Amino acid sequence: MSNSHPPKRIAIFGSTGSIGTQALDVIGANPESFSVEVLTAQSNEELLIKQAIHFKPNIVVIGDEKKYPKVKEELSSHNIKVFTGESALEEVASMDVYDMMIAAIVGFAGLKPTLKAIEAGKGIALANKETLVVAGDIVMQKAVEHRAPIIPVDSEHSAIFQCLVGETRNRIEKVILTASGGPFLGRKPNFLVNVKRDHALQHPNWTMGAKITIDSATLMNKGLEMIEAKWLFNLQPEQVQVLIHKESIIHSMVQFEDGSIKAQMGLPDMKLPIQYALAFPHRIPSNLKRYDFRKPAQLNFEEPDTKTFRNLTLATDAMYKGGNVPCILNAANEIAVYAFLRNRVGFLDMTDVIEKTMGHVSFIKNPTLEEYFESDGEARNFAASLIKL
Ligand code: NAD
Ligand code: MG
Repeated sequence: MSNSHPPKRIAIFGSTGSIGTQALDVIGANPESFSVEVLTAQSNEELLIKQAIHFKPNIVVIGDEKKYPKVKEELSSHNIKVFTGESALEEVASMDVYDMMIAAIVGFAGLKPTLKAIEAGKGIALANKETLVVAGDIVMQKAVEHRAPIIPVDSEHSAIFQCLVGETRNRIEKVILTASGGPFLGRKPNFLVNVKRDHALQHPNWTMGAKITIDSATLMNKGLEMIEAKWLFNLQPEQVQVLIHKESIIHSMVQFEDGSIKAQMGLPDMKLPIQYALAFPHRIPSNLKRYDFRKPAQLNFEEPDTKTFRNLTLATDAMYKGGNVPCILNAANEIAVYAFLRNRVGFLDMTDVIEKTMGHVSFIKNPTLEEYFESDGEARNFAASLIKL
């Protein structure tokens, strides 16, 4: 970015997570381009305090109100405002202290603050895919209304976004979302039935938060990403295809009407899509490791096994049905994943919980935001009743 510009003022919602900490690495390496104005975390107050002392934001928010006194105390001599609680996230998201939000909270909890940022016309570097899965129509509509650009951080969607630069007038035939396949690629139900949390938390190519790591192992992550792609790029469900590519070198592809296919490639490292979203429309230098085509390597591609990884089928159904079905899928999945992480349900049971919940909550074709919240609540309650949490 040209040095004549003042640094872009960044708010990281979810700064203590996998995306949040990597975003701070990117910003720390580019202090002339970006400044940190807001940091938020749910419960890791130790890390939040460290980050705040290092990056000197204007404001921090600690979600867990029990941790507020400590954060306030430790930052009192640093001239940093400290807020707490769920509503503080929304208030801060609306404030005129930053230009771009990195939406890096995990799950449904990210929706409300992101909507506030959109309504305030902020740029959104969107990692929180659940926001679009739950209420993609409302989110995208509001983004247009308030001229709030949404730049994807999810590596697949960043790849598609990068392939589409300069193609505004050209119709997309389809997008091909690549998937690593996760740690259980090639496994069958007789193996998966015995999988425990610690095994499922080992991802071959990426180090991520616990929820998305489980979603990657069940392929729900790719299901959520199909719905995310549909909204981000205004696609019909039949234009979204999933392809297993276990090396994670091609991050996704776009096929155009003339048959040409563009791919975006590189070694898997989330810092690249994070940096791209922050600096867009510019590219700025990085010293991330480069992929070297001269080293012997093979790129492999195969169809996903949707008979075994039925979450992908459920998410595809939800994408086709539309309305509140993706919201129900997401809510049931969040409950199922957190139960699995606490060893309350088995690996394959997660899919049953989601399927039953999708069959239970009534269909709404064009939900209002309030109806999305109601569907989310209803789905959570029902899913939890199946698990007996
Ligand atoms: P994480 O669990 O590592 O971090 C989540 C962050 O959100 C933390 O800072 C936490 O304090 C905060 N948080 C959690 N619950 C909250 C709540 N109820 N209210 C407010 N804040 C809360 O998660 P992550 O892996 O960084 O993922 C964040 C988002 O980015 C997810 O939506 C995920 O799907 C998406 N994403 C992550 C990756 C990755 O590589 N980690 C890649 C693509 C997309
Ligand atoms: Mg992804």
